[in-house]
Amino acid sequence: MPVKENILYFKSVLPAGVTLIAVSKTKPNMLLLEAYNAGQKDFGENYVQELVDKHEQLPKDIHWHFIGHLQSNKVKYIAPFVYLIHGVDSINLLKEINKQGQKNNRIIKCLLQLHIGEEETKFGLSIQEAQVFLESGEDKTLSHIAVKGFMAMASNTADEDKIRAEFKSVKQLQSKFPDLNILSFGMSSDYKLAIEEGSTMVRIGSSIFGERNYNT
Ligand SMILES: *Cc1c(COP(=O)(O)O)cnc(C)c1O
Repeated sequence: MPVKENILYFKSVLPAGVTLIAVSKTKPNMLLLEAYNAGQKDFGENYVQELVDKHEQLPKDIHWHFIGHLQSNKVKYIAPFVYLIHGVDSINLLKEINKQGQKNNRIIKCLLQLHIGEEETKFGLSIQEAQVFLESGEDKTLSHIAVKGFMAMASNTADEDKIRAEFKSVKQLQSKFPDLNILSFGMSSDYKLAIEEGSTMVRIGSSIFGERNYNT
């Protein structure tokens, strides 16, 4: 896989204002370094231990995005260095991240994960739950987290209208909270649609690093 060429390709086609997250779960450091040397600074990982190891071994100016399902009891391992946690799918998790942010004396940036698709993941808040929570202002009482926007995964389907409608539902929620202006949606298969529907962060794995390994 020509990782360098793939990074350069995405950097040339993504509009200004859309950040490329190179999703590197299960991929060896050598391939991440190839991407890094092509100018890529934002990497997405799904597993805590793998992220901790890669953070130790790879250049220190990488922005590490946690994009998987995060268990509360593991927040402490990534809290010292994680750049953005995309998959915050419960208020209790947000509170634990706040606690670990406090211990590490930093403000940890988070995205609320929304459940919009039919499959792929059972995790995430409904649009309505997220809206009720944000309108309550409770996130503002947590001093060591900052909710910056929303993350979502569309259904795994060839039906473009359906995918579009799911992305639109996220954009519509976001428009009620203009300060929360990061929208993390779009993967290898649907990033073009995602950008048309307002994505500001696309999470691309297989189109950069090759097919997913099958234990994921
Ligand atoms: C693996 C993964 C991606 C990347 O998927 P590709 O189809 O390989 O681009 C994006 N987001 C999440 C949450 C993932 O787990």
